[in-house]
Order: sequence, then C-alpha cells, then structure tokens
Amino acid sequence: MSGKVYLVGAGPGDPDLLTVKALRILQTAEAVLHDDLVSPEILALIPRTAKVYNVGKRCGKKNIQQEEINFLMVALADSNLRVIRLKGGDPMIFGRAGEEIEALRKANIPFEVIPGVTSALGAAATTQISLTHRRASSAVVFITAHQAEGSNSANWAKLTGSGATLVIYMPGGDYAEIAAKLKTAGLAGKTPCAVVARATTSHEQTQYTTIEQLHKVPNHAAPALLIVGEVVRLSKPHALAQEFIPAAIADSTGDLSEIFATLDGNEDLA
Ligand code: SAH
Repeated sequence: MSGKVYLVGAGPGDPDLLTVKALRILQTAEAVLHDDLVSPEILALIPRTAKVYNVGKRCGKKNIQQEEINFLMVALADSNLRVIRLKGGDPMIFGRAGEEIEALRKANIPFEVIPGVTSALGAAATTQISLTHRRASSAVVFITAHQAEGSNSANWAKLTGSGATLVIYMPGGDYAEIAAKLKTAGLAGKTPCAVVARATTSHEQTQYTTIEQLHKVPNHAAPALLIVGEVVRLSKPHALAQEFIPAAIADSTGDLSEIFATLDGNEDLA
C-alpha cells in the first residue's frame, strides 16, 4: 500500500484565501513539498511533525529540477506518507501540475487535486478590477510571458484580437519587451494596464499605466502579474487619470474641464 499525494493550491498569499479543504488536508500532512511562492503564514499551518521540503525553483543554493521534485514526491508517497504538494495560487495554472500528474500516474500513486485561488483572481479582487465587464470584455486570457524551451509559444495576436482581458503571469523584469510584444500583437499604446505585485499580501503594490508607458514601471518585487485591457480603466478610472492626462492634454484644444469630464465618464478615451 502506498501513501497518497495531494496537489494543493495555497492561493495567492493571504492565508484566509486558503480553501477549507486545503486547510483540512494541510493539517493532516506527513510530508510537504512547497514552492517559494507559498506564504510564511500558510507554511505555519503545517503540522510540526511533518517533513517539510522547499522545492522552490529559486530556493537559492540548489536549482531543483522538475524530475527531482517528481522523484521525491513519488518516493515519499511510496513510503506510505500522506504527501502534500503545496503550490502558490492554483496548481493547474502555470503550476507544472501536468508534469507532476504524469509522474504520479506512471508510478501508480493515488492523488487528488485541491484547487486554490489563482493569483489573477486574487489580484482582481484586491484591485477591484473586474476581469470581464459587460461594456468592455467578455473573455479573459491567462498567459505567461515565459515558457519552457521548445514549447509552442502562444500567438499573442490571436489572443488580443478577441478583445479579451489579458492577465500575464511571470512577466519578468523587462516591461519594455512585453509592451513591444503587446503592440506587435495589435494592442493600442493607450490600452490600460495594471502591474500587481504580491497581490493579497500586506506587501501588495499596484501600478496603473498604459502599454506605451509600461516601460517606466519600476521592477516591482516578484511575484507580479500584469492585467491588460479596457477593464482596468473601467474599474479604476481615477487611478489611471494621472497617466492619461498628459496624453489627453497633448491631443486636446486646451480645455481641461472637458478632459476631466471625459475621465470621469471614462469610456470614451481610447
Ligand atoms: N499557480 C500560480 C502561478 C504560478 S506561476 C497561480 O495560480 O497563481 C508564478 C507567477 O504567478 C508569478 O510570476 C506571478 O506572475 C504570479 N503570482 C503568483 N502569486 C502572485 C501574487 N501574490 N501576486 C502577483 N502575482 C502572483
């Protein structure tokens, strides 16, 4: 008889966003393999008796390979332990769950996936940006700026063409490069964006801007994600006002009251 593995989503950071099921399972853990992204408050909920392994890819001294994580997870389950593979956000969104599930199936280890609040939804909640909006966007695309070598990179032009809100995970430090990619994909320079770092934690920082000004955004502490689309303006017209005023003045005949009226109305400034 072997143990069992639970692929558990820890949510974006705020421990209150852990699901009841995730908490219940975590409290019965005998071994935990966690990512760097899991917040200290959530790690504090692991029973003291459990073996805890930080298998985060950026955990410093050692660059842990996915194969090593798979091996450890299978070995622990094979020694009859209840193993929790704890991941930031949701395990099925940019969480390598696919590869880990393959390894578990191959080794015949029973497993279960417990969903978590993905960071895009955590960030949408705290910034109050509705990712869909009846007047602006009826689709949302979760996309990453980084992918494994050799994998097919998504066709950004196809995705932006639909008018969907984009949520870009793992934007990396080079916002100028992302802005160039978004423009090449056909988005207007004035499309609003929000960079949300450490969403749902006490260190959360949000920067509102546009694609053409994106390169000016300081390289926030990771993790951060980028929300792109008109929904950003609809949800936060005043936060964007600072950014839009210079461009609006440049285009205007000089009547500021008209500009502020437009910003308040917020839908006609494209
Ligand atoms: N499975 C995770 C995503 C892992 S990929 C999820 O569902 O959220 C790692 C990326 O997630 C980071 O580069 C960042 O873009 C995003 N991310 C994770 N936690 C975040 C947070 N608290 N705030 C902002 N972005 C976050």
